[in-house]
Amino acid sequence: MRAEFPIFAAHPGLVYLDSAATSQKPQIVIDRMNRYYTEENANVHRGVYELSETATRVFEGSRAYIASALNATIEETIFTRGTTEAINLVAQSLGQLLLQPGDEILLTVAEHHSNIVPWQIVAERHGAKVRFIPLNKDRRLDMQEAARMVNSRTKIMAFAHISNVLGIEHPVHDLIALAKSVGAATLVDGAQGIAHLPVDVRVLDCDFYAFSGHKVFGPTGIGVLYGRKSLLDRMPPYQGGGDMIEKVTLNGSTWNSLPSKFEAGTPNIAGAVGLGAAFEFVKGLDLGKTLAHDRALGQMLVDEIKRSFPKMNLMIEPGPDWIGLVTMAHEFIHPHDLAAICDTDQVCIRAGHHCAQPLMEIFGVPATARVAPFLYNDENDIDRFVAALHKAEKLFA
Ligand code: PLP
Repeated sequence: MRAEFPIFAAHPGLVYLDSAATSQKPQIVIDRMNRYYTEENANVHRGVYELSETATRVFEGSRAYIASALNATIEETIFTRGTTEAINLVAQSLGQLLLQPGDEILLTVAEHHSNIVPWQIVAERHGAKVRFIPLNKDRRLDMQEAARMVNSRTKIMAFAHISNVLGIEHPVHDLIALAKSVGAATLVDGAQGIAHLPVDVRVLDCDFYAFSGHKVFGPTGIGVLYGRKSLLDRMPPYQGGGDMIEKVTLNGSTWNSLPSKFEAGTPNIAGAVGLGAAFEFVKGLDLGKTLAHDRALGQMLVDEIKRSFPKMNLMIEPGPDWIGLVTMAHEFIHPHDLAAICDTDQVCIRAGHHCAQPLMEIFGVPATARVAPFLYNDENDIDRFVAALHKAEKLFA
């Protein structure tokens, strides 16, 4: 698989273990975007000349391909800048449609800031309250407490498909069922889920599913919001501008049909086309095999840490819900120092709060180090990280 990703030829010896932050890009995605700019570039939905029709065809073709992969319709598949923008869109627009003073939005404590802050902003605007499902001792969601927390005031529930810190799949089916039991709308933050698990929005039966292209082999600056049509139809636009209108007069405007109603301005056409190619790449993968590979590499690291690094604390014990991501905190090496030492050996890992400061506070650490194996990693990459960790321990002892 590594041969499909030109970055490894450009940097011989590179060990990239930061795929939860962003994935590397296969040649087919890079080539597709190059072809778009070289042969097909024009603005979409506007021109009456052939080149613009070509650009519109490849842009909309990409949407259709992604929609079909998600088992969604074209109307329900909205291009955004990424997960963050998709969640902000839902928070602002659905918030305006649904929220009244005293209503509640239920999240979990294990959310990325992108799935906390937009809800805090909108809750303040509408006099609603944001509540958080806590974790059990084993750092999985406390579903009993979740069941106690939902009530007739719960209007929206939003949670990650896979936590970017814990590397585990949340029990999304149970959470969605819980939301339905009180008639609350559901948003799944699929930023991590989309790269590791098959996503069928009809099987999930969520109201919204948000993800970023760059985590799933696509370019940055493009993402997707799946939304249930019956809600999207009723929701007010998120931004105003070109393409999202039906008619504009000096006295007011009316809105375009879905999905254009939520896509104001010239979209990221090349990004959308590149994301379509990324989805074609994913279609050629066996996601079950890929996940087993990532888990095997993660387990190899977990075993080595337990055997040789008693001062390194793992943030979670792997279980069947785990995707192989290893988040850890050392008793005397700051994660930034560890990441810097890794870098001197061409090993890229993530260090910091991972945009999950509330979770860091619960763990009682300012930051952690994170190793995220993916399909282009192998055992040698884990060995190289372990060697860097030995080096760091000697240096800081
Ligand atoms: N949600 C989760 C779980 C994430 O891991 C990330 C990115 O790391 C995001 C949201 C935000 O994604 P983006 O910055 O691409 O919008």
